[in-house]
Amino acid sequence: MDSDRCHRHTSTKRKRVSHLHPSTLARAAFLYLSDLRKGGAVQPMREKVLKIITYPHPTLRHESKPVKRVDADLRKMISRMFELMYEAKGIGLAANQVDLPLRLFVVNLAANAGEGEELVFINPVLSRPRGSEESEEGCLSLPGVYGDVVRPKQVRVNAFLLDGTELNADLDGMMARVVQHETDHLDGVLFTDRLSETGRMDVDDALHEFTLEFQSRRETGDIGSDEEIAQRLAEMEQKYC
Ligand SMILES: [Zn+2]
Repeated sequence: MDSDRCHRHTSTKRKRVSHLHPSTLARAAFLYLSDLRKGGAVQPMREKVLKIITYPHPTLRHESKPVKRVDADLRKMISRMFELMYEAKGIGLAANQVDLPLRLFVVNLAANAGEGEELVFINPVLSRPRGSEESEEGCLSLPGVYGDVVRPKQVRVNAFLLDGTELNADLDGMMARVVQHETDHLDGVLFTDRLSETGRMDVDDALHEFTLEFQSRRETGDIGSDEEIAQRLAEMEQKYC
């Protein structure tokens, strides 16, 4: 999620997650398997440099599958996601925004390395939506596009953190909004899908420009075909889901 405009609206509401009073915080049986499978003939993944993909890349519409294993490669990819998020001055980034079909996202409300709290939400499930609030949102997959989105003001999240801890927390303020925006990504939903009719009309020209640029990048071979992308996502799902 893009930080620029949201901070203007809600800078007084920024909180560290540690102030969010997790209702329960329990160790969980989240499986961490080494990628060194004994005696297994594991095919090396095709090397791919992670970068943030932009609208209308098809992976942004991919419904991400729950992650069943975290290995050294995935930890490296998550670390790279934080780097990319900071470079883009974002506060949240979902895995499918870097072309990974995995049900996880990273958040740091401080938007800077070495500040705030780095959180990785794995297999997040949202419940107990309460209240309603409109606030302006942006997205690292739609740079420069902003719009007002109505979302529940508070929400409960259940997720696994990177250390295997199970988190159950009632969120509000900016954290509630970011977690909802990023969970939407994992379901293939963009904030522009949630704009009012007039809000959508305001961003239509920009979306059209993104579409034209995407098509031209595809023609130059910079972006693979739908089939190539689907094949790579299937390989990743087979490895981690
Ligand atoms: Zn986004």
